[in-house]
Amino acid sequence: MREQLEILASLQEVDREIRGKNLTKDTLLAELKKDEGELHAHQAEVATLKAEWTEKDKLREEKERILQEEGRKAMEKRMRLNRIKNIKELQALQREIDQIKESNAQLEEELMKILEELEASGAQLKAKGEEVEKLEGACGEKRAQVEAELAGIEQAMAEASKSRQAIAARLNGDLIERYELIFSRRGGVAVVGVSEGICQGCHMNIPPQLWNEIIRSERLIFCPSCHRILYHKPAVSGDKRV
Ligand SMILES: [Zn+2]
Repeated sequence: MREQLEILASLQEVDREIRGKNLTKDTLLAELKKDEGELHAHQAEVATLKAEWTEKDKLREEKERILQEEGRKAMEKRMRLNRIKNIKELQALQREIDQIKESNAQLEEELMKILEELEASGAQLKAKGEEVEKLEGACGEKRAQVEAELAGIEQAMAEASKSRQAIAARLNGDLIERYELIFSRRGGVAVVGVSEGICQGCHMNIPPQLWNEIIRSERLIFCPSCHRILYHKPAVSGDKRV
């Protein structure tokens, strides 16, 4: 049993390496996802600002068109004034011209306000656009960096997986199954050494009777408190064996 447990301990070392790499991989991907999520939110904001600006600019065009058309109409009416002799007709036409003038003055005021708004939102759009451009650059760099790191991790994991296979081939199938169950339930530590009568997994004292059995290593022994597989591991090689 002693040899099997030693092999199991080396299997655990490889498994812990794989587990660590998987965690790093998840962390990297989560970071990238977060950054890209932020970028997408900013991009959406720019798209909204742009749509609003375009809408407002259409309104500006429309108002300018009306202003021009009404101005032209007023001009024509003014020209007709000179040809009219009838005083009533003259007064009526003058009223029409005044009305156009009045509504055009209002239109001009509205147009001015729109132009001011366009200028303000244009500046906002420009600033936001520059910010997004920077973020896009940073995100692109981050993605490239993460991809390079992931490639390294994948390679290391492939190698670890190969050595895991070689180690596992030397172990009893039942033992691996029990080990794997504990490994997943106990935070990636399933087989632990006991030195000086203390479980290195949970740091509890092992009862003397059990401790003797661990040293004899004739059967599989589990820690009474953390339920991990125990094996004898001298504290310091040579001098301090218990
Ligand atoms: Zn324990």
